[in-house]
Amino acid sequence: MTSPDGRDGPCIFCEIVAGRAAAHRVYEDDRTIAFLDLFPITRGHVLVVPKRHVDRLTDLRDEEYGDLFRALAKVCRMTERLSMDYNVAVNQGALAGQIVFHLHFHIIPRYDTAGPFATTPRTRIRAEEAQTVLRSLGDVPS
Ligand code: AMP
Ligand code: ZN
Repeated sequence: MTSPDGRDGPCIFCEIVAGRAAAHRVYEDDRTIAFLDLFPITRGHVLVVPKRHVDRLTDLRDEEYGDLFRALAKVCRMTERLSMDYNVAVNQGALAGQIVFHLHFHIIPRYDTAGPFATTPRTRIRAEEAQTVLRSLGDVPS
């Protein structure tokens, strides 16, 4: 699908859902997918994404919230194998920092005491590092 704000080109997260773009998949069910952020803020930064393209949290249908939240909680449990401290965040709208206009939750593990507002440069994750992170996240909990 094209971006709802009128920019041309396919939505990168729809491309990942369709299997036409690569991603390091962490979790998948009928309605939700989760994969590693390509430019992680910290090790294990994951995006949890509804498969149906919506821009905003408020665009979901009533019956979709439960499935998405259950999937989010499962991926949070996986994240807890890395760290019990993490941020779950939605950037909603350009002024809030949204750059991909397909709804997604960030799960950002925290490891140090510098706090969530300490910034470090973000670099593209390497394939070997991604594999190590996927192993650390482990199996999907039931
Ligand atoms: P947001 O600022 O909330 O829209 O965040 C979008 C996130 O998507 C950023 O953290 C990007 O690093 C991440 N991202 C963009 N393209 C991809 C991709 N192809 N695979 C995984 N993550 C991506
Ligand atoms: Zn999309």
